[in-house]
Amino acid sequence: MALEKYRRKRDFSRTPEPASRIGRPIKGADPEEPFFVVQEHHASRLHYDFRLEAEGVLKSWAIPKEPLQDPYVKRLAIETEDHPLEYGSFSGRIPEGEYGAGTVSIWDRGTYRNLMAKKRHPKTLAESMRDGHIEIFLKGKRMKGAFALVRTGEERGKAQWILVKMWDAYVRSSTARAA
Ligand code: MN
Repeated sequence: MALEKYRRKRDFSRTPEPASRIGRPIKGADPEEPFFVVQEHHASRLHYDFRLEAEGVLKSWAIPKEPLQDPYVKRLAIETEDHPLEYGSFSGRIPEGEYGAGTVSIWDRGTYRNLMAKKRHPKTLAESMRDGHIEIFLKGKRMKGAFALVRTGEERGKAQWILVKMWDAYVRSSTARAA
């Protein structure tokens, strides 16, 4: 693992360097199946924080409306800062006056596969993110199957993406598909 040497050389009871901010491997985790988490965050506005494990951190987006299994319903997803892996199991209350004040609960969690890794021009999740087109297969309790995240632009310095459910056996659509 990438940070093992780094860790072995240091005594974190003495150095203020971060021991776990980046890349702490999860015991028994399959490197082909990193994890994702969605946190329901009742901040000044309710939103869903969507996070994908990649490169030792959680790549993150804030989604103002609940993600659905419906390809006809596209969700805005605003890119936010990388979070430490440990954040993936965080739930609780962020006190008043702090950034993101409000309650956080785990809305969904599971593993995912990077579908771009199997394309003719394979890409890692991080490469796909830089190129603005991610395709993943989610194995959650609520979010299941293939999803795409496509970068559409930028607003107030924040990259805007669209989250779309791709057509597969996990689609739940209330909109009847035209024959
Ligand atoms: Mn949030």
